[in-house]
Amino acid sequence: MKERSILVFLNAISRSIGDASTFKDYSLKDADPEMHALIEKEKQRQSRCLELIASENFTSRAVMEAVGSCLTNKYSEGLPGKRYYGGNEYIDQIETLCQRRALKAFGLDEEKWGVNVQPLSGSPANFEVYTALLQPHDRIMGLDLPHGGHLSHGFMTPKRRVSGTSIYFESMPYRLDESTGFVDYDMLEKTAVLFRPKLIIAGASAYPRDFDYPRMRKIADAVGAFLMMDMAHINPFEFCDVVTTTTHKSLRGPRGGMIFYRKDPVLGINLEGAINNAVFPGLQGGPHNHTIGGLAVCLDHAQSPEFKAYQSQVVSNCKALARRLTELGYKLVSGGSDNHLVLVDLRPLEIDGARVEKILDLASITLNKNSVPGERRYLYFPLLTNVSLLALVPGGIRIGTPAMTTRGFKEEDFVTVAECIHSGVQLTLEAKSSAPGPKLKDFMDYVEAPDFPLRGSLSALKSSVEALTSHFPIPGV
Ligand code: PLP
Repeated sequence: MKERSILVFLNAISRSIGDASTFKDYSLKDADPEMHALIEKEKQRQSRCLELIASENFTSRAVMEAVGSCLTNKYSEGLPGKRYYGGNEYIDQIETLCQRRALKAFGLDEEKWGVNVQPLSGSPANFEVYTALLQPHDRIMGLDLPHGGHLSHGFMTPKRRVSGTSIYFESMPYRLDESTGFVDYDMLEKTAVLFRPKLIIAGASAYPRDFDYPRMRKIADAVGAFLMMDMAHINPFEFCDVVTTTTHKSLRGPRGGMIFYRKDPVLGINLEGAINNAVFPGLQGGPHNHTIGGLAVCLDHAQSPEFKAYQSQVVSNCKALARRLTELGYKLVSGGSDNHLVLVDLRPLEIDGARVEKILDLASITLNKNSVPGERRYLYFPLLTNVSLLALVPGGIRIGTPAMTTRGFKEEDFVTVAECIHSGVQLTLEAKSSAPGPKLKDFMDYVEAPDFPLRGSLSALKSSVEALTSHFPIPGV
């Protein structure tokens, strides 16, 4: 009897310890009110603000459901049908469905093209391709970051190899022709003949034009290089060996990456084997199955007529924005845009992107400062050490249309957007001229101070921005 009661007691204790040590399996609001409140605030911010960051978008409720599902629990190293873990019956079906939809969404023949949907994001996808195709210290050429290229395309400064790509490979940038704002293909060709890269990268983060793929293919063939496209928007498959992409920008999916590759060998390399091995076991472990599930959902939607209409609206909206900004007297890099973004050169106004970004932020307009061709200074990495070279005040701003187009903005709304930005730039000019000192910090402290004399005008701009956005709900929440 005594033994039995001890057993009951121990059992009760172990159950209560078990209960106390298990995580709180109830709603976020109840389990972690602090985090819940922060997410709610971010939701309100996203809803209130005019979201013009060219690399952002709003994904759908269905994608978010998949991303927040039980798929996050599963390990599945390897590829469908060849896993290092059990229990992958449904995960295999999910990844295969995602691959099939990816090829279909981009109109690719399954006999000729394959895709790896496991990259964790755009930068890892790029590094995985370099790992697959190159030996350490092989040579690459990508668009220089201050001219619109991405860090992962090999950015380095005269003093520092900034990107991992430039640490492990030898990087020679190509650039824009500063007089036109278009890629200088003649310079690319001349440099490629001398440098003899093994890989040429097309694609950019802040270039408002399409690339000349036939010309780049010719250059790559002439020097025996692979041609890779890090695709932001357009369809480059006809001319490329490998195409990488993020999935959370104009595709409107979850945060992730994909690598498309030709199935036939290129320059003697079996791209399929090399790329799949570079992703796993080369650089990643278990795939993020919840992301792959969400990606499959968005790729299904990407094949719908509504999505095609959305994409062409993104471009029309960008043209309307570019037109109105030009009418208002702004200088746009390359004089306009063929895609989803414009790059505004603010230097003729003797103002910079950092100050304009700050004032617009205070007026609920979210965009980013950006370097423009011809600047002698670099924007990147104020928070890192050894950055005497790097300035914080680039001469331009980048403005993108994908996110607000998702919320339903049309051309006339982007005319209003251009006018709101113009009001913000006027306020920035006034604030700069009355700031107590010339430094960026003087300006930032001045505009944040409670007695900032332009507070009333700034509040009026903010109210009109928020009145506009309030008519366009964000999807997914
Ligand atoms: N490639 C291009 C052209 C990009 O614009 C970006 C991000 O903006 C990336 C790669 C990197 O993507 P992620 O931030 O997902 O690594």
